[in-house]
Amino acid sequence: MKKIKHRELALTSEPPPPIVDLCDNLATRKECIRLVESKLDTSFDTVVRRLFLVMPPDMTGKDFDVEKARRRRYRNYPAYGLGLLAAKIRQFFPDIEVHVVNLNHEILKSANNDGNFEFANSLNQIITNRISTKNPCFVALTCMFSQTHDSLVNVCNVLRQRLKNVPLGVGGVHVTNSFANEQTRKNLINDLKFCDFFFRYEGEESFIQFLDVINGNDKVESLAQLACRATNNSLIEFKRKLVPEKKHINIITAHDLLDTKDLSKFGNIGSFYCHKPVDAKFSTVLSNRGCRAQCSFCSVRNFNGVGVRRRSVESVLEELKVLRYEHDIDHIMWLDDDFLYDRAESLKLFDLLIKENLGMTWDCSNGVIAASCKEDVMSAAEEAGCIGLLIGMESGSRRVLREIKKPGTVDTFLRAAEVLRTKTKINSRVFLMIGFPGETFSEIYETVSVASQMNLDWHQIAVLQPLPNTPIYESMLAEGLIEADFDSIRWNTGSIGKGKNSRDDDIPSDLQACDFKDAFRLKDMSAIPSRRELDDIWAYMNFHLNFNKLFFERRSEKLRQQYNYLLSLSGVVVPENVFAIYFTAYLQMQAEGKVDSSLYENLKVVLNSSAYWRDRFAEFGLHPEHLLEGKFPAGIDYIRDAIASEADLPTQLE
Ligand code: SF4
Repeated sequence: MKKIKHRELALTSEPPPPIVDLCDNLATRKECIRLVESKLDTSFDTVVRRLFLVMPPDMTGKDFDVEKARRRRYRNYPAYGLGLLAAKIRQFFPDIEVHVVNLNHEILKSANNDGNFEFANSLNQIITNRISTKNPCFVALTCMFSQTHDSLVNVCNVLRQRLKNVPLGVGGVHVTNSFANEQTRKNLINDLKFCDFFFRYEGEESFIQFLDVINGNDKVESLAQLACRATNNSLIEFKRKLVPEKKHINIITAHDLLDTKDLSKFGNIGSFYCHKPVDAKFSTVLSNRGCRAQCSFCSVRNFNGVGVRRRSVESVLEELKVLRYEHDIDHIMWLDDDFLYDRAESLKLFDLLIKENLGMTWDCSNGVIAASCKEDVMSAAEEAGCIGLLIGMESGSRRVLREIKKPGTVDTFLRAAEVLRTKTKINSRVFLMIGFPGETFSEIYETVSVASQMNLDWHQIAVLQPLPNTPIYESMLAEGLIEADFDSIRWNTGSIGKGKNSRDDDIPSDLQACDFKDAFRLKDMSAIPSRRELDDIWAYMNFHLNFNKLFFERRSEKLRQQYNYLLSLSGVVVPENVFAIYFTAYLQMQAEGKVDSSLYENLKVVLNSSAYWRDRFAEFGLHPEHLLEGKFPAGIDYIRDAIASEADLPTQLE
């Protein structure tokens, strides 16, 4: 391929492309083109021959806990989106040598294998060995979550120290979301001062276009979904969209570049890993892109656009075979935001999975839409290997559900739960959220009541964290309910998390001050809870809907699932949570007829160090001696009792 000098390209007489000049003193589109050409000329001496696609660690060294890493507490997902880019690059540019470096995986591996592990040293070493000594022509980084922002900045800074003249680019969900708002865009551009190329939205098509321009096969005017820091430090944005259409998404990610076999050795994938043997190999697959719904708190459509683009069942099945037969994968998590979007296609996929008998299981940790959980679909899903899913419910209040545009009504959720309760092999959980604008104690209590009536296996409860560039954020800002504090936005913003400040796996330190047993008592139920009261309610819901409910479980398959999950909670996720320890012991007693003395010892240590937890324990009639004696209370169903005794509470059970 011959490299054409960009400066020599003539502007066409076609309508001008939608280039936005973000710098006041740049007068013309022609001048913008000239500046970008100049930038590309100075950035790329030759055609791109060796390209590095990099995923930063999930966090910086400041937040990294080596002990957590060694007990496999952190997630370790494949760099799936980079694998898709790599597959496209291989298809269109067979001469380009493409590498994917998953620094999150590399750091976790180093923390596990190196007794003298130190985060900054390890990261520097890995970047040197895997990237900077390999003569890259271009390094492009991805960032999915805004909570990874600081880590992305750190990796870019390290790369710039080692690669003085190699151009750096960034893309992914976080970068795309940041560009949707002027302030977040400014923050991003300023923080990433060594990056010159910012890729927005799904990049398979626009990145190929970018390489075409760099390698002299196309004109600068054809660039799309890209912002370029020009030579005069202004930002020139090519807003034209090049979204991969249906025909472009039947592609198998380059799993051979993604450390696929090793990921689960050093971290976890999805929410259901506890239900598989400890040496099971996990990976991920993306089937449908986007979501049919438009929940007001969700940022998925900022990246994927409105609606769903469906990948062919044949292509999905082909990828599953690659994972099973070439990489020995035992379990996959679907990355989809609307996995069950098309009932007929879902049934077709499940039917093929049953016939192929791949010996793989799967889960939907990102959640499915309750209305799709029909009897035939869930029966086929269970037979086809589904072992876990979450349904997105958020609220049991009809008003709140309408306000947040949740796809589904209270009746939809109750019907879905009725189906799922009969699919005992599927561990069925529910996403709940509290703290919506104007949401009262009474409305949150409706959520508790409906969730209790649904009687599914676990609830992942979150306090609303409104994300910039979502409808709920804009309306709360307009009403003065929140301030535009972008620095505090460091929560999940991608397909995983969807903006939830989820606390399922963590007990925040401020809860040490909570008194949650009576979170709903002595309250004006028409009042809106304060932030502190939301923390009380969160703890109340977590205890009653999750832990206390275990006293009433009688089904052997469910007891087995819950025991696996509690073992993971008390052993890996939150080893100092007294409820997790206590109920692990309770379920161990049901499963094995005895309780490990180590659980009793752990519980005593935590209780001895915390008057708060001792009080909570006493309030609920729990005692460490139960573990020693192997005798546990029969349990009190506080929620049903409360509902029965307080007929004036506006519950859905009345
Ligand atoms: S929260 Fe879930 S259902 Fe709602 S728009 Fe986002 S992905 Fe779709």
